[in-house]
Amino acid sequence: MNHYKMETKCVQGGYRPGNGEPRQIPIVQSTTFKYATSEDMGKLFDLEASGYFYSRLQNPTCDFVANKICEMEGGTAAMLTSSGQAANFYAVFNIANCGDHVVACSAIYGGTFNLFAVTMKKMGVDFTFVKPDCTDEELEAAFRPNTKAVFGETIANPALRVLDIERFANAAHAHGVPLIIDNTFATPVHCRPFEWGADIVTHSTTKYMDGHGAAVGGCIVDSGKFDWTAHAEKFPGLCTPDDSYHGITYTERFGLAGAFITKATAQLMRDFGSTPSPQSAFILNLGLESLHVRMQRHYENALAIATFLEKHEKIAWVRFPSLPTDPDYALAQKYMPNGTCGVISFGVKGGRNAAEAFMKKLTIAAIETHVADARSCCLHPASATHRQMTDAELEAAGVSPDLVRLSCGLESSDDLIADIAAVLESI
Ligand SMILES: *Cc1c(COP(=O)(O)O)cnc(C)c1O
Repeated sequence: MNHYKMETKCVQGGYRPGNGEPRQIPIVQSTTFKYATSEDMGKLFDLEASGYFYSRLQNPTCDFVANKICEMEGGTAAMLTSSGQAANFYAVFNIANCGDHVVACSAIYGGTFNLFAVTMKKMGVDFTFVKPDCTDEELEAAFRPNTKAVFGETIANPALRVLDIERFANAAHAHGVPLIIDNTFATPVHCRPFEWGADIVTHSTTKYMDGHGAAVGGCIVDSGKFDWTAHAEKFPGLCTPDDSYHGITYTERFGLAGAFITKATAQLMRDFGSTPSPQSAFILNLGLESLHVRMQRHYENALAIATFLEKHEKIAWVRFPSLPTDPDYALAQKYMPNGTCGVISFGVKGGRNAAEAFMKKLTIAAIETHVADARSCCLHPASATHRQMTDAELEAAGVSPDLVRLSCGLESSDDLIADIAAVLESI
């Protein structure tokens, strides 16, 4: 599949049915799988043979869909998780444990910030947050001898900052650690972070990949390019024997192409069990089949609305990285020349209260803690997703108190603009 274009991978990737097999991916709604002998099953438990034995670890339906996303990103191995939160947690915890440190971009999703700064900190993993536009010296100063990874988002939710992926990848590699990129907002249709030096990609598939507000999910993809063995002292979990699997060493047994995902499945999925359901994976796959078509329309609608808002006298500011006036326009053009996403943010003149009044009156976009749905929706992060943050943390994350996040759906942009225009007229 890898030589096909993105459109073909979206529709047909991950699953090649044989003669007489179902054309659509089968939903294997089974917790368990049968074997003729205990020896057969024992080989699976020792990771000596590959196959299915229990759906907490792996399930064929989920693997078809993980393989499709793997092909779309151009990776070597991938796994689905039950949510984007689980994907980011596993991706980081797979290589950074108690006593380790991670450099993360400060402009990231509020849930990920909380996972890192609060929950993983309690587990003994320390994070240093750097602004996406920090100087090279500031980025350099964030690294410590125990740093195990660098983390950022292609397009930050909700700050809409674009990460300079190449710059962060170079800094990570100079310190012998991988760059993990959450590619949720761009999707591989608009950006493939592996082409710019990223090593691991994560997704909240809940967003554009599903795209219909139907199934929460996540995904981790490995590029297979990061050489763990060249920095074996930093990554003992991948480069030394795993006692919980009869002493196998993941990099030796599965190579660079498979070590990271096999370890995350065999250890983290086994022990934490953030397993996607085969039903949800099936729904995700339906979304993926039209992702390339939908991303283009989400983007066109967002560009039309952002262009309208930018000229409106009642709007204080607009952020959309594909607007030529946006501070990240050059980065967006470099990494996402065919379009970014369907999410824009802006401030209504009058601050926090004006933002609330504006949102309440919209008739098409509904107030939701969600983005990237076929239906337009909006949110005031300072009083919802980011309410646990201090003002200083909000500022660092690029979220001002008046920020309205609008996720432009697949409706007519004429209707969306007319609705917004009428509400702005009335406030
Ligand atoms: C929503 C989101 C997440 C969390 O994903 P869930 O599927 O809600 O757990 C992580 N990263 C980004 C960029 C997101 O938008």
